[in-house]
Amino acid sequence: MPLHKEKGQPDLRFLISDLTSYLETYLPQTQVSEVYRAYLFGADAHINQKRLSGEPYIYHPIAVAHILATMRMDHKCIIAAMLHDVIEDTPTAKSQLTEQFDEEVAELVDGVTKLTSLDFSSREEAQAASFQKMILAMTKDIRVILIKLADRLHNMRTLGVMRPEKARRIASETLEIYAPIAQRLGISRLRHELEDLAFQAHWPMRYRILREAVVKHHGFHKELTSGTLAAIRGQLMREKIHADVVYREKHLFSVYRKMRDRKVPFSEIADVVGFRIIVDDVDACYRVLGSVHHVYAPRPGRFKDYIAIPKASGYQALHTVLVGPHGGPIEVQIRTKAMDQVAESGVAAHWNYKSGEAGSSTARNSIDWLKNLLDVQKESANPMEFLENVKLDLFPGEVYVFTPKGKIIVLPKGSTIIDFAYAVHSQVGNHCVAARIDQRMVPLKTRLHNGETIEIHTAEKSRPNPRWLDFAVTSKARASIRSYLKNLQRQDAVQLGAQLLASELQLYGGSLEKYGQQVIEELREELGYSEFDDLLADVGLGNRPARLVAKRLADGGTEGDAGSGGEAQPLAAQRVNIRGTEGMVVSYARCCHPIPGDPIIGTFHPGRGIVVHHATCPNISDMRKYPENWVDVAWESSIKGSFPVVLRVEASNQPGVLATVASAIADAGSNIESIRTDDYDGRISVLLVTLSVHDRRHLSRLMKSLRHVPVVNRLTRIIG
Ligand code: MN
Repeated sequence: MPLHKEKGQPDLRFLISDLTSYLETYLPQTQVSEVYRAYLFGADAHINQKRLSGEPYIYHPIAVAHILATMRMDHKCIIAAMLHDVIEDTPTAKSQLTEQFDEEVAELVDGVTKLTSLDFSSREEAQAASFQKMILAMTKDIRVILIKLADRLHNMRTLGVMRPEKARRIASETLEIYAPIAQRLGISRLRHELEDLAFQAHWPMRYRILREAVVKHHGFHKELTSGTLAAIRGQLMREKIHADVVYREKHLFSVYRKMRDRKVPFSEIADVVGFRIIVDDVDACYRVLGSVHHVYAPRPGRFKDYIAIPKASGYQALHTVLVGPHGGPIEVQIRTKAMDQVAESGVAAHWNYKSGEAGSSTARNSIDWLKNLLDVQKESANPMEFLENVKLDLFPGEVYVFTPKGKIIVLPKGSTIIDFAYAVHSQVGNHCVAARIDQRMVPLKTRLHNGETIEIHTAEKSRPNPRWLDFAVTSKARASIRSYLKNLQRQDAVQLGAQLLASELQLYGGSLEKYGQQVIEELREELGYSEFDDLLADVGLGNRPARLVAKRLADGGTEGDAGSGGEAQPLAAQRVNIRGTEGMVVSYARCCHPIPGDPIIGTFHPGRGIVVHHATCPNISDMRKYPENWVDVAWESSIKGSFPVVLRVEASNQPGVLATVASAIADAGSNIESIRTDDYDGRISVLLVTLSVHDRRHLSRLMKSLRHVPVVNRLTRIIG
């Protein structure tokens, strides 16, 4: 019904007894008992929870189950609806549902939970269409979407208790994402109610005015419509066609949308009278068409045969427009009872036909239903559009993820961060050094899952790494990496090889310089290269793992097999050029306070990103145990900003010493962030001063001028 209830009307709440007696009209008693058992389980799980309205939480799942019952859904779907919030909102685990009910119910509830965890509010509005696709793609079983839609419908019905701005946000999400999904699946009854409720919540004033206008107009035209109705009924009776003729009420939101989109006045839309004629079989549809055309003249060019060519959603009917007694248009839809059910319930109507059949697997059926639609679509005008729009389980090979700006990227299943980076842009791929999934730092080889948000961090001087070929799956990523490596100039390959090797050697606390010419020559000879640069080039081209060469050097013995597995690999062996703008990715260790110009080392911490330490920081020796967390970093030459540094100042203990030190620091163009007195004896006071500098040159100037201050006896920088 388009003019749905106002707030405060009593029939919003369904009792479990209402539900079970309704279910008994179409389900066997044993299945109804199962639903009742799910009710007891759900009531227990939600025992101390209340809805915003103050009523016990369980009323919500009962109402959601009731909505699905009116769509005559199967008992597994009703059970899952009863339990749809227990994983999300209670400590209940999926495995418990498998135990208590079965795998099918557990999967359904789990699917709903996953959809619920998607957050639409933070995304670009223009992406609504992609969201619809993603929801469909994420869902293995179409009943998951039906439960989600019923959940949303009940939440919309009870939206009155929300704060207005929150209600408005939920309303626009409903209009942009859920109502179109309902439309795509052909569930028009549910879609229209969603739209009208959302319309009311989003534009309460417009809703009220339009509603009053429609009611008034309806009363005004009553005579006209009842006359037309009688004329059509009379003609059908004379021709002995058994048919149900009903006046078609207008949905407020459709009226509003037409006025808005077509910029036409209310009267133009309201003057259109609509009738629906329901008959027993297809043959009767065409006969009815003939007889209504006999009563009123048809408008040329307005006849549409959706029986021969159904719409994408499976909708079937004959549409025609007649010229009414006063010249106004009369829209007529003619269809069979079965077609009418599909028109109202869309994909859900499928269960209506199947519910009597023994052993029908509904999960399977939904796919058959879609396959049938696909067959239908082959003959229709635009099959590609259908393929585009309804992905579902027919296309399980894709994963949908977001860029930080909310753009959706579609990749083959099994894709990793590297594939994503190349999908964004080949330059992003070529320069990527690190990534975050949903704010959490992850290695580049991490596989992607539906709904994740991926943030790629790049560094200008970073290059593709041969190791990426181990986990890149898209042809775009693999081809780009290969082509980069193939086109490496020998000099670049040597350089890259040297970098890779240097970073591996750091794990052993060494460097090529440290090992010296003698050791390097031995290695070259042993591995059979005429020049050491050839060895480096092979490392750079990915033909020889840097780790094994490093280990060989460190051990001074034979090439070991440590690290030959794919697991423990440094995140990115190239140099990350830290820039001031990359504060989000890279943070500076508080233990040793590195400043530009210092030798530095990066450590990778899941959830925190790359932490840059001073190379001599005592804390990093602990981290040497975890080479996979190492990132080789270097300062970007153009880096700007203020960096904290800690100085230990030993000063003569005399009045005003603090002020003297502070003003000397200020004179050198620095700010004091904090001062702590470390220890005292009678003659000397020790100050630990945290101050900010731009870089090492700034620091040395500052220290030089501090040393000239007479009260300062000793001055040292504290690292770690
Ligand atoms: Mn819910």
